[in-house]
Amino acid sequence: MGEVTGIAWTDHTFNPWIGCTRVSEGCRNCYAEQLVTTRMGRKWGPGTERRRTSAANWKEPIRWAKKARAVGRRDKVFCASLADIFDFEAPIETRRDLWKLIGDTCDALDWQLLTKRPMRITPVMCEDGLNLGFFELTHCWLGTTTENHQTAEERIPEILQVDAAVRFLSCEPLIGPINLDNLKYRPGMDGWLSAFNENAWPELGKIDWVICGGESGAQARIMKPEWARNLRDQCASAGVAFFMKQMGSVFGPSKGHDLPDDLNIKQFPVSA
Ligand code: SF4
Repeated sequence: MGEVTGIAWTDHTFNPWIGCTRVSEGCRNCYAEQLVTTRMGRKWGPGTERRRTSAANWKEPIRWAKKARAVGRRDKVFCASLADIFDFEAPIETRRDLWKLIGDTCDALDWQLLTKRPMRITPVMCEDGLNLGFFELTHCWLGTTTENHQTAEERIPEILQVDAAVRFLSCEPLIGPINLDNLKYRPGMDGWLSAFNENAWPELGKIDWVICGGESGAQARIMKPEWARNLRDQCASAGVAFFMKQMGSVFGPSKGHDLPDDLNIKQFPVSA
């Protein structure tokens, strides 16, 4: 939640609230759930509180934006690491405050919105009035997690339906191979939206950035290096920026220097 983030592909992390519910296999060892249940002693999952973070925390992006403007740079802000802003149980008023905060700071900050529920983006935009001229996600980087081929088939078509400054995939934790050339339409848990767009087949060229990483922690599942290499090669062929974050705990401490030389690639998209 603070100034410094340990996530190599961003400059800051911001959590508008804390709390979520597991939605797919990628959530099995959710870091946020472990943090909240073991260190904070709070509950996690359906029906549990999505607790708004402190007023002081909400002032942080304003301060980051001010600093960025002063030196003429743009900072990246990952939102949210301890929640999913398109969660069915998201606190609506807090989410609307988030859009306001993004609108007030997006001249200096690239907001990176990452979700495992991309099928919820358009309904949320309608609910919050974001597609009615108030605010559009064209100011934001919009990403979805695709931990395996099934979630790639479910979620990539959804993310391609929304305009954004940058569209990205987070293939982390990568727990199975993903062949982006061989995706088939597969409605997710809320597939009605995709049903209107069956012809909008995923094209990797419409994705600007792919982040790849193995799982961390004591229960980490294996990521075969060939899965990462295959994604790297698919991105290279399609001209898509590729960022290899980590191999994961099964290969030792999750530091960048543990990456094999041929996977030590940290490209960023050209921001709009
Ligand atoms: S969507 Fe993200 S924050 Fe929510 S349970 Fe899954 S991994 Fe955790």
